[in-house]
Amino acid sequence: MPVFFAEKALVGSDLNLRENVYIITTSDFSDFPGLIKKVTEEKPETPVSEEFYDILLMPGFVNAHTHIGDSVAKDLGYGAELEDIVGPQGLKFKVFEKIDRKDLVEGMRDTVFEMLASGITTFADFRESGFFGLELLKETVKDLPIKTVALGRPSNSLEDSVKVLDMGDGFGLPSVYQYSKGELQTLSKVCLNKGKLLAIHVLETRDNSSNSKAALGDELKQVLRFLKKPSFLVHLTHANPDQLRRVAELGIGVVCCPRGNAYFGVGFPPVAEMLEAGIKPGLGTDNVISCSANMFSETEFLIRGSRLFEKKVLDPKEVLKMATVYGGTVLRRDVGVIREGAGADFILIDLKAPNIKHSSDIYRGLTLRASPKNVKQVFISGREVKDF
Ligand SMILES: [Zn+2]
Repeated sequence: MPVFFAEKALVGSDLNLRENVYIITTSDFSDFPGLIKKVTEEKPETPVSEEFYDILLMPGFVNAHTHIGDSVAKDLGYGAELEDIVGPQGLKFKVFEKIDRKDLVEGMRDTVFEMLASGITTFADFRESGFFGLELLKETVKDLPIKTVALGRPSNSLEDSVKVLDMGDGFGLPSVYQYSKGELQTLSKVCLNKGKLLAIHVLETRDNSSNSKAALGDELKQVLRFLKKPSFLVHLTHANPDQLRRVAELGIGVVCCPRGNAYFGVGFPPVAEMLEAGIKPGLGTDNVISCSANMFSETEFLIRGSRLFEKKVLDPKEVLKMATVYGGTVLRRDVGVIREGAGADFILIDLKAPNIKHSSDIYRGLTLRASPKNVKQVFISGREVKDF
């Protein structure tokens, strides 16, 4: 039963700073190894495996939306429109046609190493290219400790789509426009029957929202009508207050990708309004083509962008929760939080490093100034990750 002692730790779903805590985890021999069994200030009778002084223990980051398939095409299409880069006929898919399997997997592995080094212990990937694409993702992570939520893309064949669902954790749909009403209803039904996640990009661009009004009806309305109750919606960059209230009422998860939206020039997500409406969004670094897989950059950009574009002052603690606790909730996994029953996934941050040492507030320091180089150790399922 490995026991960890931390002089300082961010504990529970509120990320409260606590001192001198013991984290007791389940052993390799239990039915559920690598989970947190207890968090306590009382010294347990069992010997302490590791003690952490002069360093902060916090939950590992949850990168709740990525497309790591385009890791071999970083910065491609800079300055071009979203559709021309990642749309169905976009540059990204032309790269996929030309490159061989081995290089694609190698590129994706590089991104996983980047994530581990920056303290990301769980990520959720929208994997394109049907069953084949999902196989590549599985091959990428097969011997790596990172926790992966693999959301495959259904193809035109229902048989292939069911295979995608059986192999992965659910569907990640590109948009409501790429399937017919009947297809959406079928995909939703098979997904629900198998108890898997159903996620979709919604209201990422202004064009989509205006198109939908003119020709197709409201984009969000269509999603809710045909998919019934999706697990989570990615973006909502152009959602209005009424739409946000509706999403909050229905209890549907949301993931925002502010840096991804900025790269494509599509807008800035109304995160302050989401929080006011009662939504607890996760954060994602989106396509590797457009953004580094680094959650420190995401939190910093979100806070500064909200102040500048939305005239809203976000609470840094809340933003840190988006990058950890809320991401875990949106993905329906017990991750991103130091509490009983959750995965023993945590990272150690050097608060004495020159770039954060004199910050007046730990949450401000972590979200506005910290960087991957402050991550000194990473633990997933109670085991230290060494190779990154
Ligand atoms: Zn996406």
